[in-house]
Amino acid sequence: MSSPLPRKTLLERLQQAPSGGAWDLVVIGGGATGLGVALDAAVRGLSVALVESHDFGSGTSSRATKLVHGGVRYLAQGNISLVREALHERTRLLANAPHVAQRLPFVMPGYHWWERGFYGAGLKAYDALAGSQGLGATEWLSTRRTLELMPGANPRGLWGGVRYWDGQFDDARLAVLLARTAAARGALVLNHCAAESLLREGGHVCGVQVRCRETGSAAVLRSRCVVNATGVWVDAVRDMDQDPATGAAPPPRAPASALVAPSQGVHLIVDRSFMPGLHALLVPKTADGRVLFAVPWLGKTILGTTDTPRPDLPREPQAFADEVNFILREAGRYLARAPQRSDVRSVWVGLRPLVKPPSDDTGNTKALSREHTVLVGASGLVTVTGGKWTTYRAMAEDVLAQCMTAGLLPQRPGGATVKLPLLGAAPGRPLAEPPGEHLYGSEAALLNSLPGAQRWLWRDAESGQGALSEAMVRFAVRFEMARTVEDVLARRSRLLFLDAAEAARQADAVAELLEEELQADGAGAAPTARAQTDTAAFKALAAQYQNLP
Ligand SMILES: Cc1cc2nc3c(=O)[nH]c(=O)nc-3n(C[C@H](O)[C@H](O)[C@H](O)COP(=O)(O)OP(=O)(O)OC[C@H]3O[C@@H](n4cnc5c(N)ncnc54)[C@H](O)[C@@H]3O)c2cc1C
Repeated sequence: MSSPLPRKTLLERLQQAPSGGAWDLVVIGGGATGLGVALDAAVRGLSVALVESHDFGSGTSSRATKLVHGGVRYLAQGNISLVREALHERTRLLANAPHVAQRLPFVMPGYHWWERGFYGAGLKAYDALAGSQGLGATEWLSTRRTLELMPGANPRGLWGGVRYWDGQFDDARLAVLLARTAAARGALVLNHCAAESLLREGGHVCGVQVRCRETGSAAVLRSRCVVNATGVWVDAVRDMDQDPATGAAPPPRAPASALVAPSQGVHLIVDRSFMPGLHALLVPKTADGRVLFAVPWLGKTILGTTDTPRPDLPREPQAFADEVNFILREAGRYLARAPQRSDVRSVWVGLRPLVKPPSDDTGNTKALSREHTVLVGASGLVTVTGGKWTTYRAMAEDVLAQCMTAGLLPQRPGGATVKLPLLGAAPGRPLAEPPGEHLYGSEAALLNSLPGAQRWLWRDAESGQGALSEAMVRFAVRFEMARTVEDVLARRSRLLFLDAAEAARQADAVAELLEEELQADGAGAAPTARAQTDTAAFKALAAQYQNLP
């Protein structure tokens, strides 16, 4: 594939709408939702620009539990339509991005005599809902077989288990792939560029003013349709949608009129040795009625998660002490070796953009729907939020259908992304294994043609395999639009999420390579000062990911 355009050229092109002075569509927000909309619109031949204030996937979309799933617990809540749609989307995602999304076997262990039969029956219903899209049949397991498949499970009091199949993925790499595939299809996608205000004419939204966070320069994008896909931050963009006739700042939003009720989810990463093997563990009901996952991912084990209402909207939310205690305590009950605080290699937190019914003031986010909502405002601003990563593609179709129904976009047939391989799509190795060139799919040859393909900055300690090479850093800048140390170490490589102390140790080496590559891209003045600030900021962030409350 050809190199993407230098950032300077992209910034210039932002202002030059392809036809008649206006883009068909401007998308605000480069997470799963916005990127899905931009890709679908571009494939349908519409002119599209997308701006992301930070990095692609840097909001909620890099902090998922990494499951491509129908949602066993939503089935238990009786949300059949959500589960059925997600099961179908699961198959499509695995087919379109096989290098970063694969099927994964799960074991539900039983610690009461009735659990194996009870949960097995529920999971058979899950299989039935998936129908021909199923990834493998649910099986009842003996105690011996459960321990063979899950050698890390606690054998005390075990009454067998149930095996079923779902999927897992690398969320941040998928976000970057969506951005790159959209760009390859003609969309202009730009990270580190924030929407600051909306343009209005005759009461209608007709564009967006944006500002590049690197250069500080502003640009005005005129557009027929504007989609607000800013996740938990959608209400801030809705607040920009004010009538310029009055010029008044919008009054503070009453909590009941906010669309989103954010809910925090915490994940802890521990070594693979706590749960060796290729199976994930799901406890559907912990002692206090919550769900616990232990998922093998990129050579480590993810433990999580929580569901805690969080009305403030920090970019980098921190875990609460009782969330960490809950995860460690429950993991200790279900794993043969109980992880301690000192075993945690990284703690990361995401905010779920749960859609709040206007009348709901209970603060109970567990009961809120995981379905998405699309609102077309009186001014024509289209807001989409909620849903899950697994259903991003179907959400995008829904958003574009509603834009077309409202007359904001020309009619174009849907279904364009059902069978649309993303860049590099080629069968990959299991995602439970440490990271490596297999995550690049058919682009591995391009990766290996870059300088430093065999110079390993970081090797996975347990397997000894090379996991981050000099060439991967160069690839991140040249082809994956990485601009900062954090972009490289948090989302192109996932080292910050896997081992925060190791990520901090790699920051200087990555910064040096990054600056070399960015200078070739014409990144601008004072590269050394920029690199120092960037590295210091990253090390502070890595310290946050290492520190448990
Ligand atoms: C703990 C947790 C676990 C989860 N696990 C799973 C899972 O296993 N499987 C699954 O399918 N789903 C999962 N989800 C859900 C899934 O991650 C989210 O539904 C999805 O990532 C939301 O994507 P989004 O694009 O709507 O939001 P985001 O990813 O937050 O994207 C919004 C973007 O908008 C940008 N933005 C904000 N303001 C502006 C502005 N003014 N200008 C430009 N850009 C702006 C932000 O920087 C951000 O990148 C999980 C969520 C959480 C929190």
